[in-house]
Amino acid sequence: MVDLNPISTEASFQLAYFKKHSSGATPFCMPISSPNPGAHVVIVGGTHGNEPGGVKAMVELHRAFGSGKVRLNQGKISFLLGNPNAYEKDIRYIDYDLNRHFNKRAASSVEGRRALEIKRFLKENDDIEALLDLHSVSIGDFRLLVYTKDDSDKIEFAMKVSAIPLHFVFHPEHMPGTLIEAASTHGIRGLIVECGNHYAAQAVETARHHILKFLIHHHLIDSRYMSPETTPTSITFYESIQAITPHTGFRFSIKDIKTGTKLSKGQKFAADDHGDHVAPQDCYVVVPSRVVKATDADAGFLGKRSVLEGDALQWTR
Ligand SMILES: [Zn+2]
Repeated sequence: MVDLNPISTEASFQLAYFKKHSSGATPFCMPISSPNPGAHVVIVGGTHGNEPGGVKAMVELHRAFGSGKVRLNQGKISFLLGNPNAYEKDIRYIDYDLNRHFNKRAASSVEGRRALEIKRFLKENDDIEALLDLHSVSIGDFRLLVYTKDDSDKIEFAMKVSAIPLHFVFHPEHMPGTLIEAASTHGIRGLIVECGNHYAAQAVETARHHILKFLIHHHLIDSRYMSPETTPTSITFYESIQAITPHTGFRFSIKDIKTGTKLSKGQKFAADDHGDHVAPQDCYVVVPSRVVKATDADAGFLGKRSVLEGDALQWTR
């Protein structure tokens, strides 16, 4: 008897499901449309192939639409499986991190070709209003919202579509080539939700919850599909200072390093073949990676922290 790994069995079910229900020019993209005009919203999961929560939640919700359990009132949803090749193998990526590859033009790698397909999709569908990119983390069970630092009303939008009280705001030069940045060049508002740990059952629930909330916010489905939730009274923000750029042999030298680990100026926190990684100022570690390869663009980030609460938070609403 063949001993099938339950994760790969589940992954092959989801891949087959996506294949069966995909239509249009973009592979692994399942559209659902209403005859009534409304927003076109894109939901993405599996941009990193070892993050199954978003993909499971998308398949589940697509089935709920199919069976009539959930009704689309207006507009259109495109469910997109980011990196199907890596998803099939339960690995972050095949050649390059897809979520750092949207600024590349070469079609010579698996992710290069997929990035081109997705960029074409974003370009050709000029009615897309917003994009939700569902991820999970390798260290800890952190839930956090990730979006780019710019002068728009990003914080307000993030707070409208999520009650997660931890935000990571990054400067695109510290994390170039993300899907949400590619989306923003087409005027599409993008948000990343880190739904918890890759392997936490809770991550699927968080993904499901955020898809529903995103669709409700854009008036695609009724608000009755979700019970109201309390908004947080304070929000912790990390803003990127720099990426942690790894070379061969990279490893963190702090035990139990995680999002929120505090570093003092001059403190060594990692090492690789090029030498020690030292904090340039007092700062915090944000979304460090458990496994780091030489092809990784970053092993996490260093950020400064601020907390918004009370009146300040009221003001942003
Ligand atoms: Zn990810």
